[in-house]
Amino acid sequence: MITLEDGRTRVAFDESTGALTGLSSASGWNVVARPNLGSAYRLLVPLPHRRNNVVEGVDQRAPRVERGATSVAFVWPDVLSEHGGAHEITVRQEYELIGGCLLVRTRIDNRSDRVVENVSSPVLGDLRPSTTDGALTAYRHDYGSGMAQPMWPRFENSVGYHGVDVPTQLAQGWMAGYGAPAVPYSLLQTDVEGLYVGVDEPSSEFVAWHTELWPGYGDSLEASVPLADEVSGVPVRIRFAAVHVPYIMPGESRELTPLRLQFYEGDWHAGADVYAAWRDSWMTPAPVPEWARELHSWHQIQINSPEDELRLDFDQLVEVGREAAEAGVTAIQLVGFNAGGQDRNNPSHDPDARLGGFDGLKSAIADIRALGVRVVLFAKFNWADLSRPDFETAWLPHAVKDPYGDYYMYPGYRYETATQLLDINTRRLVTMCFLSEAYLEECMRQFDTLVALGADGILYDECLHHLPSWCCFDESHGHRYGAPTYANDRELVRRFRERLGDRPDFLFAGEAVYDWEFEAYGLSYHRSENRHHFPLHRYTAPEQQMMTAVTGFDDRNMINQALLYRYVVSLEPYNFKGRLTDFPLTVDYNRRMHELRLSARAWIWDGRFSDTVGASVIDDAGEPVHPYTVFTAEDGSKAVCVANYDRVALTCRVLLDGYSGAYRARTIDDDAWSSTDGVIVLPPRSAAVVIPEADAARLDD
Ligand SMILES: [Zn+2]
Repeated sequence: MITLEDGRTRVAFDESTGALTGLSSASGWNVVARPNLGSAYRLLVPLPHRRNNVVEGVDQRAPRVERGATSVAFVWPDVLSEHGGAHEITVRQEYELIGGCLLVRTRIDNRSDRVVENVSSPVLGDLRPSTTDGALTAYRHDYGSGMAQPMWPRFENSVGYHGVDVPTQLAQGWMAGYGAPAVPYSLLQTDVEGLYVGVDEPSSEFVAWHTELWPGYGDSLEASVPLADEVSGVPVRIRFAAVHVPYIMPGESRELTPLRLQFYEGDWHAGADVYAAWRDSWMTPAPVPEWARELHSWHQIQINSPEDELRLDFDQLVEVGREAAEAGVTAIQLVGFNAGGQDRNNPSHDPDARLGGFDGLKSAIADIRALGVRVVLFAKFNWADLSRPDFETAWLPHAVKDPYGDYYMYPGYRYETATQLLDINTRRLVTMCFLSEAYLEECMRQFDTLVALGADGILYDECLHHLPSWCCFDESHGHRYGAPTYANDRELVRRFRERLGDRPDFLFAGEAVYDWEFEAYGLSYHRSENRHHFPLHRYTAPEQQMMTAVTGFDDRNMINQALLYRYVVSLEPYNFKGRLTDFPLTVDYNRRMHELRLSARAWIWDGRFSDTVGASVIDDAGEPVHPYTVFTAEDGSKAVCVANYDRVALTCRVLLDGYSGAYRARTIDDDAWSSTDGVIVLPPRSAAVVIPEADAARLDD
């Protein structure tokens, strides 16, 4: 046995196999519970007549061992696969323990005539909670938020049953896959501590998080883990791996993205802190125009869909601008101005001639700006519309191709008519390759059109993904076989900025940007209409501008949510097809929220969001209240925001950590602050801000 130890973390290896046989925290939680179930790596090396051919690290001859002061490396000069015999593929796996952090580096030298498609490294062969009656949950980023995926004692299967032998978590929903760069880490969380597993380099190479429950459910009705060491003679265990998808060709060598494994004490907040500290060590967020940094609201309006409502001519848009000015709304996001309507004719952004054409839209934007209202144009560069007559000649060459040479097709978006809602005539969308310089040049031309219209910015819808693609296999684009399709996400916007020149007032906004995209975008727009909204992204990026959609006609709780999570409000009656005058109750409540925000801006706008860390809020039975959030002003003083989403009043007590004095509180409906000992009565569907009495002089009234 070989060990690495630094007082906080202990790592053990089997010298004869190179297996990772132990990884223990200071408290003694070992995430490789039984050494004999330890694992090293796994390669997928397809054979001409047998694709599913695996190289299992622990089944190889004993590796060469290279010891360093804080590291150990295992080298397998060549490997044997399950069905292909010997391959001239050298695998080098290095583990280095520094300051409680285990770094795993993997190198593949492929001198064989086969392709190394996948590399699982590292692999935790026997992941379990510290006690069998404990719980284990995976936390990861999700669309503008976070997701919690149960692993123990209930294991959530996200892959379905037909295609795998055991319950598996690898891909799910429209985020379709948990992997870097969009999902750069996983938190493996017990009741009291966790293990952070993340990429340790801001690389766009695809690394996904792969979890399997062996040998399967005890009770499939409950999706329950068999709570025993073994069932029917097979060890019960979770196997967790980082899966690299590098497509290493014959004759090629590649250093894979390094991984970082680090224990933390506490709940997911502490795990997210590990990520945020690492991210802040290399990333500089994009500049944000001053107008978009200030307290403000938006109105999103779509004027045409692919089914041709042609709601408003461009010369009628000035009325929308006037309504925004009257409602105190700063910016309009204009959607569906392009020829054919939203999600049609992609990637063209030319204004629709039926609505007034380029000149009509340009003068409408100028008229709205003259009212003091900003106009941000909806943009989308991901796709080419398959129904375009010129699809085959103009766009197919730049499409992402799969290993068979075919394009990837996204199902598209259905609008308005029964015909289209039934998916009979939906415009199918084909994923375009951002690694093709010719396509990027086309994006530049599209961007020129948006700038020439006089817009204050663009909101690039769907900038967070290239679904259903991860890799592109069309080398005629000038990239390698199997190159990652997310690689130029930030580069595209960097080029837009370069082309734009010195325009600090121009906003680059994106939809639910993945965290690293804040290097390119100044504002992220998402939808979060969920009572249990999980603010993982807000917590890890507390300073960034994020905006959420508010669609209800008396949408107090979404505005309460926006207050608590410091979201800019995007007002969108009729699901962004309506006018601000359609929902006066919501507009009025948003205005009141804005006034409260102004009054307490030192904390809840200019301060730092920390979710629930730093305070507790309990009801009169002593039970925790949900939701509440904590903000810290620049001078270190704190405020608590608390909401009551229910239709009955809520009496609750606010307790700031380390503080026992009196408070001031004000709900969105109140015109003034009032004193309290910390107990407040929240009316139905309301929210309040609470600060220590001593800080009341700093309120801005
Ligand atoms: Zn390509």
